[in-house]
Amino acid sequence: MVAAASLEKAPPLLTLAHVAKEYDTGGSLVRAMRDVNLTIDEGEFVAIVGASGSGKSTMMNILGCLDRPTRGTYTLAGIDVGARPGDSRAIVRNRVIGFIFQGFNLLPRTSALENVELPLQYRGVGVRERRRRARAALEAVGLGDRMDHTPNQLSGGQQQRVAIARALVSNPPLLLADEPTGNLDTRTSLEVLAILQRLNRERRITIVLVTHEQDIAACASRVVTMKDGRIVTDVVQSSPMDAAAALAALPSTEDGGPAAAPQESAVRGAELGRPIPASVYAMMFAGELLGHAVAAAYAALVLRRSPMDFLWLRALLGELGLAWFGAVWARRAFGRPAGHEERVRMALVYTLVVTCGLGGLLVGALVGLPIPAARRPAAAIAMRALVESAAAHPAAAVGVTALGIAVAILLRYLLLSLFRPRT
Ligand code: ADP
Ligand code: MG
Repeated sequence: MVAAASLEKAPPLLTLAHVAKEYDTGGSLVRAMRDVNLTIDEGEFVAIVGASGSGKSTMMNILGCLDRPTRGTYTLAGIDVGARPGDSRAIVRNRVIGFIFQGFNLLPRTSALENVELPLQYRGVGVRERRRRARAALEAVGLGDRMDHTPNQLSGGQQQRVAIARALVSNPPLLLADEPTGNLDTRTSLEVLAILQRLNRERRITIVLVTHEQDIAACASRVVTMKDGRIVTDVVQSSPMDAAAALAALPSTEDGGPAAAPQESAVRGAELGRPIPASVYAMMFAGELLGHAVAAAYAALVLRRSPMDFLWLRALLGELGLAWFGAVWARRAFGRPAGHEERVRMALVYTLVVTCGLGGLLVGALVGLPIPAARRPAAAIAMRALVESAAAHPAAAVGVTALGIAVAILLRYLLLSLFRPRT
């Protein structure tokens, strides 16, 4: 008896029984699905193929609990979902199904990590746990080193891998994908397929995937063909193509090359950092001025001293102000914190252009303006003395200036790295 029980087949993951779906388009009735019967077991990898308009997406919408059959029943994980009201269908959907779309459907100005965290956020998972699981999901699709990138800094294949990680993060037993490789070239499609095959084999995740490409369907363990709203063939493939092996066998310069090239360069661009918009430098300057103003006001109003005293306090608040403004505005411009290389460039360019350029002009004005000696401000006198002693010892002056610039760049880089604004 025990042996007989253990030999008993596990119940199917999902069953469509006599499912029809009709759309009433103002008088004419479109029969998108007609009397469809389909059973899918846990651990299967099913490709749905068929001409455009044959009803593939309609069936996926029903399998995904996004739509209900006009007639017939849909049973998912033992639950008659068609009979459930919308709210409880949504709960089943969120617990059981991960979706992958042709257009990736990622939030554009949001990092890969935050995109993947989103489904867990909706489920009220705490921030630490959310972050841990999103990291693990991104690592599972080979994007452990791209977590801070926004979608526009990723190639199409990488974006689809982020979308797979997002679908995986809530550990659903079923992944549904409608033309997931429709926007990708051959090589990238195979990369995505290799990941899906691995998830199917190693984690026994059931996968149902719509495709119009022969190569992609060849990777499935079963191919269901639709025509005019009906299933016309349903074939088991005992030895499906191995996407990872097919990928390894592809010549390195295959015809998908030109299409892949701009994506590759986009990724390299992201690694090297993006150009820093002038507005970021302008805001850094505004931050520095604000720091100086606060320090001068503090000296004058609270300490009742000349705003020209406490220059060290003005310098300090100026540096903090410029670094904070720089970090905030870089994050706004990029949709993520500035990367290492970008912070180096911000510190370098700001110091050379703003500090040395504007500072040089100021010194030049103070020293060169024909102001009668008696009416020269103290700063101009000090500057002139400085310039004269620099002229007397040019080598030392150049050395000290270079050292000052280097220290300023390093300090600003460190301060920019210290500030990690959230928005
Ligand atoms: P496929 O994904 O295989 O290309 P679809 O499932 O999108 O096919 O469409 C099947 C048929 O149903 C088509 O004739 C299509 O025009 C029709 N159809 C799909 N969705 C709707 C809708 N919301 N309203 C009316 N007709 C629709
Ligand atoms: Mg479709």
